[in-house]
Amino acid sequence: MKYSMPAFCLLRDPKTYRPCPTDMLVDHEFRAHWLAHFRTHFELVVQLAIEVYGPHAATRARQCQDDFVGIIDQIERKPDLFGELNLLTFDVLRQHKLIQWELPDPFLHVKQRENQAMLALYPSIVAELDAHTQVRDALLLAVEGVFAGNIFDLGIMATAKRFSSGSVDFIKVRGEVAANRPWLVDHFDAFAEKLLVGKGYKKAVIFVDNAGSDCVLGILPLARLLAKRGTQVLLAANHLPALNDVTYTEMIALLTEVSNLDPVMQRLVRDGLIAPVNSGGIAPLIDLREVSDALNMATADADLVMLEGMGRALESNFDAQFKTDSVKFCMIKDAMIAQREGGKIYDSVFRFDVL
Ligand code: MG
Repeated sequence: MKYSMPAFCLLRDPKTYRPCPTDMLVDHEFRAHWLAHFRTHFELVVQLAIEVYGPHAATRARQCQDDFVGIIDQIERKPDLFGELNLLTFDVLRQHKLIQWELPDPFLHVKQRENQAMLALYPSIVAELDAHTQVRDALLLAVEGVFAGNIFDLGIMATAKRFSSGSVDFIKVRGEVAANRPWLVDHFDAFAEKLLVGKGYKKAVIFVDNAGSDCVLGILPLARLLAKRGTQVLLAANHLPALNDVTYTEMIALLTEVSNLDPVMQRLVRDGLIAPVNSGGIAPLIDLREVSDALNMATADADLVMLEGMGRALESNFDAQFKTDSVKFCMIKDAMIAQREGGKIYDSVFRFDVL
């Protein structure tokens, strides 16, 4: 018998919850856009796989590409091949094919490269946050840092191209994010009010997105700020590699690395005020109908759910309702997603829903 994973314990109504509301069996424009994307983008996946697994893996990587693109072609001819068709269908299919061809983590090297490059900047980013006398200003800067960091996304062609010749200038992008307020969805002031003036939160779970600047310069400094003010922060990361998302194992290693650079982080991690948790996730989007037992055990008493990144917070789960207050925040990096939200590429979204 197959073990079935439980639904996320903080979903308000698991029966009516749907991770990806856009049904590609109905929405032909959306389907055509993503069929083209997954077909084209896999070329980058193959190149990176050969970098990670070596020249002897080149034949296998091309066979994997033929296999995956063959299924994309089949879906094009018969969209209901798997019964339903949404973004998670494509994401899970891609991961399964990579695992089947023993190329489970093509983005391993690029994640490591970006993590190391961003760790060098981490001390100056947290020092800058600590220098603010007004905590609200620090919180805003930390959130802007999450948006700027979230640009490290090799799942989308527009941002993958920006990283092909090295890291993107985090400070410059953060400045652009700050100049863009109000953001496309901008509930930051209400969130800051509840967090800083209201009763705040005792335990938050953040579903994190990418490695590199996203995690090191965005999420970790934000988690540190929340934890310093007494909110316990759980960092829920994927079980398996998916694109350049940070995995649970990588998150544990990163927390050790930043703790070595930062006595404050060291104390927060030691005291359990910041802790990693394995979400059970296997894709760049997250289906909250299937999470790990560890996540449910750790979050049963959480009073804030934060979903970060376009995949987890917008392409899936944007309308998900929880038993707690929730934040969905990301930078938009795909033109069609932007257009459908009434915005443009590189717009930021900060949605805050009070229970
Ligand atoms: Mg991602």
